[in-house]
Amino acid sequence: MVQVKNSEQLASMRKAGRITGEAILVARDHIKEGISTKELDTIIRNYIEKCGAKPSFLGYGGFPGSACISINNEVIHGIPSAKRFLEEGDIVKIDVGAYIGGFHGDSANTFGVGKISAEAQKLIDVTRESFYRGVKMAVSGKRVGDIGSAIASYAEGLGYGVVRKFVGHGVGKNLHEDPEVPNFGTAGRGARLYSGMTIAVEPMINCGTREVKVLDDEWTVVTADGSLSAHYEHTIAIADGEPLLLTFVE
Ligand code: MG
Ligand code: MG
Repeated sequence: MVQVKNSEQLASMRKAGRITGEAILVARDHIKEGISTKELDTIIRNYIEKCGAKPSFLGYGGFPGSACISINNEVIHGIPSAKRFLEEGDIVKIDVGAYIGGFHGDSANTFGVGKISAEAQKLIDVTRESFYRGVKMAVSGKRVGDIGSAIASYAEGLGYGVVRKFVGHGVGKNLHEDPEVPNFGTAGRGARLYSGMTIAVEPMINCGTREVKVLDDEWTVVTADGSLSAHYEHTIAIADGEPLLLTFVE
């Protein structure tokens, strides 16, 4: 069932969202060649706990990390590892949730390690822009299909693959709630958006095919063709005009 939040609940969501967004920025500031993804995960966990919150992902479905950290062709759900080190030229996706006051935030971003290729930078830029194209449609009275269609038509129009197997979602008391918010769809179709709904919009965009597969660790999702992938996500609150970006902190 879709939950609509009142202003008090939205204030709690904003608090969870701010900590989530800040944790990503703290991680970003530690990204450098040679750091392990486990070290980044620990930095994120420490920050969230210092804020009095809990990492939403830790233990979720058995996930062993506080953040999902996914490199290059890894799309989402990368498991932090003490044996996995960032290298110059990598792109790294940091996906974080923080839980406080009964509510979750959920946000992800993609960062370059040192100097990255023009192809990688363009992918990151297109992914972020596709998010904002979708969010422009995230207005009370529109439907989730308006969001997905704006994302897909933009990114696919530029020749990118838009991941379909994993989608955005409602977020609030639970990390994943109704409705599903696909990054594709038909304008005017799908669940209706109401003021006070809180959803995570999260395009996952590939340089090649949109197809993905899950590795033997049963978590890490990679592009089927090995191409680069980027991810950009914010938790937003639907309003009558522009939505509020609850996890955006700068
Ligand atoms: Mg996320
Ligand atoms: Mg999400």
